[in-house]
Amino acid sequence: MIKGFYDKYMYTPMPEMHNEMIPVTDGCSYGKCIYCDLNMGKKFRVFDLEDIKKYIRKRARFYEDKRFTPNKFTLLEGNPLCLKTEFLAEILKEIKVNFPNMKYVSCFARSEDVLRKTKEDLKYLKSLGLDRLCLGIESGDDEVLKFHHKGVTTEEQLKAIRMLEEVGIDYSCYIMLGLGGKERSREHILNTAKFLNKTNPFEIVVVNLVIFSGANLVDYVKSGEFKRISLKEQIEEEILLLENLKIHTIYNGTHKTKILPLTTMIPDRKDDLLKLLREEDKKTNRELLKEEKKKWGVWDKE
Ligand code: SF4
Repeated sequence: MIKGFYDKYMYTPMPEMHNEMIPVTDGCSYGKCIYCDLNMGKKFRVFDLEDIKKYIRKRARFYEDKRFTPNKFTLLEGNPLCLKTEFLAEILKEIKVNFPNMKYVSCFARSEDVLRKTKEDLKYLKSLGLDRLCLGIESGDDEVLKFHHKGVTTEEQLKAIRMLEEVGIDYSCYIMLGLGGKERSREHILNTAKFLNKTNPFEIVVVNLVIFSGANLVDYVKSGEFKRISLKEQIEEEILLLENLKIHTIYNGTHKTKILPLTTMIPDRKDDLLKLLREEDKKTNRELLKEEKKKWGVWDKE
């Protein structure tokens, strides 16, 4: 919650959760992914540039007498990169003026928004500190992306990644286990591993699909069009994903939606992760459900 901007909660990329948060938009300009609840009950809006700048100055004053001053920042919320380059540049410049030790500014980004920028735009934003974009890739399987109304193809996602690599902007990739449902579980995982093996993210963030009560996916679950995988199958998907990943990066599977929190460098420590997962896979679905209920208390109601 940031008073005057977000009343309840705000979404922030996991790899950047300890950064200083800068409110830029409320919600996501796209808002059509059927599993997502970010725009639930609210309309996408862009905060006034002067209010954003005022907020940055207020935070700088707050840190004046503190021993610690932040040097990493995150622009909130769903996809700030959809905004005009000059608007973003103004925010980045304001951060730099007020926090001269700024290392980088990160944000969530849709591949589509990356593709809408020119290479010159991206280079300009990078020169002002924009780096470590958190890309919501979710799946490397086109059918899965289409089913969930992701609005981009794997080819487009890869093109966006190549653009970032060309201009030197670092990125992480968000991947969602369970997104293929029961029917497309294997294809979802194998194609996602194949996709990731063509990329060079500083981190892969692995989360589990959660069916939020207000998300459109609920209707597909009710009609039987989407059958969610079991907890045991989630572990099996993660094993399959890891077995097929070949890239060198940080594997971050510590998100609270995960059954077993895991993080390490891959491929160096991949076998350690697989060992832990295979151990967890020995539990029955009933046992896993019992443990998860303690954590969430809602699984059987979804
Ligand atoms: S792009 Fe991201 S934030 Fe926007 S609707 Fe899709 S999942 Fe939600």
